[in-house]
Amino acid sequence: MQHRIIVLGAGYSGAIAAGRLAKRLRRQDVAITLVNAEPDFVERVRMHQLAVGQELKPRPLRGVFAGTGVELKLAKVTSVDVDRKTVAVESAEGATELPYDTLVYALGSAWNTQGVPGAAEHAHEIASRPGALRLRERLAALDAGGTVAVVGAGLTGVEAATEIAETRRDLDVTLVARGELGDWLSPKGRAHLRKVCGRLGITVREHTAVTGVAADRVTTGDGAAVPAAVTVWTTGFAVHPIAEASALETTGTGRITVDATMRSVSHPDVYSVGDAAMAMGPGGKPLRMSCATGVPMAWQAADAIAARLTGRKLPSTAPRYYNQCISLGRKEGIIQYVTADDRAVKAALTGRPAAFYKEVVCKGAAWGVANPTLGMPTRRHPVEHPQPAPAEAAAEASA
Ligand SMILES: Cc1cc2nc3c(=O)[nH]c(=O)nc-3n(C[C@H](O)[C@H](O)[C@H](O)COP(=O)(O)OP(=O)(O)OC[C@H]3O[C@@H](n4cnc5c(N)ncnc54)[C@H](O)[C@@H]3O)c2cc1C
Repeated sequence: MQHRIIVLGAGYSGAIAAGRLAKRLRRQDVAITLVNAEPDFVERVRMHQLAVGQELKPRPLRGVFAGTGVELKLAKVTSVDVDRKTVAVESAEGATELPYDTLVYALGSAWNTQGVPGAAEHAHEIASRPGALRLRERLAALDAGGTVAVVGAGLTGVEAATEIAETRRDLDVTLVARGELGDWLSPKGRAHLRKVCGRLGITVREHTAVTGVAADRVTTGDGAAVPAAVTVWTTGFAVHPIAEASALETTGTGRITVDATMRSVSHPDVYSVGDAAMAMGPGGKPLRMSCATGVPMAWQAADAIAARLTGRKLPSTAPRYYNQCISLGRKEGIIQYVTADDRAVKAALTGRPAAFYKEVVCKGAAWGVANPTLGMPTRRHPVEHPQPAPAEAAAEASA
């Protein structure tokens, strides 16, 4: 009898978890199914590039997982029943339920309007491919002198504003920051960010909260209006509501609470990785939503699942931070070195070498997804205690 592992979501964390599981466990012992709504892997870290008209390499998931031992199911997950151990999905073949023995929940996240009036109606998002493509169309239609406001000056906002300003030097780009520009960076990183924004002609409005969005402007806490024919909203991510609607223990924001092995604290046969999970990092600080932590979380979960199924030692290396890689258009960047718990240290790499480094990191992450089992050491041990599905267990018990 095979142990059924279902991985939900084929983004950075889900795809990598599925590939690693296939490499860690024997095919005759497990059936690994990867469920994803879209047929292609979406390189979310490049959505600002897609939005300004750059073409991204297509990566069809069918080709990626062919011959790996992972079965791909193209379907939209609509709910998870962790008591019955089933996932409800809708696909071209209709609605159905998939039973599992172990679930890996990696459905990622979407944009977060934070309830600001007008944002959902008028602002653009770059957290998803459809959102980035809509913005791309809108930017392409904007005449010279057109106004763009990027709201939120975190990593995504800074990358979006600089990418737009570099590609469209004829537009009037404003970056709205709640605090000081780059206040989480080292003095060197902060100075470089300010220099590049200045060079690209970006107007930076610091210590400004946006309180409303209209079709042609954003309004700020002090009652001012910033002209914006296009508003790009980048104030963080929100998770899909599926986990919160289940019996899983989640945080107030709907992320699944997991332990150091990425296992749900309420349901031991459920694991969660990537943006969907709330895991603690070094120093007891929550890991932030990022590809940088989603990938090691996926390794951790896959290794822990394989260890538990095969009666081996649990992984002991916890995800940690090394640097923050920030693109500032295609020619500029900042690699901000950080402590294990993500605080900036003095050292930072800037300029073209940083842009090159960031490009290598993005390519490396996509390569890891596109080659989910290549180059990974094979350590397949037999599954010791395959757990029967509830229906089979009931049948066995009554026999
Ligand atoms: C513009 C931009 C730039 C970024 N830059 C960086 C960066 O430089 N460094 C960094 O570390 N992070 C960066 N991030 C954040 C990073 O992209 C995310 O943290 C990362 O993608 C999370 O990975 P994930 O696997 O959890 O989710 P995702 O990559 O979002 O994958 C989730 C998958 O689940 C699928 N899915 C969702 N809902 C359903 C459903 N109901 N049914 C079926 N399938 C579904 C999606 O189609 C997707 O394939 C950036 C994000 C953006 C938007």
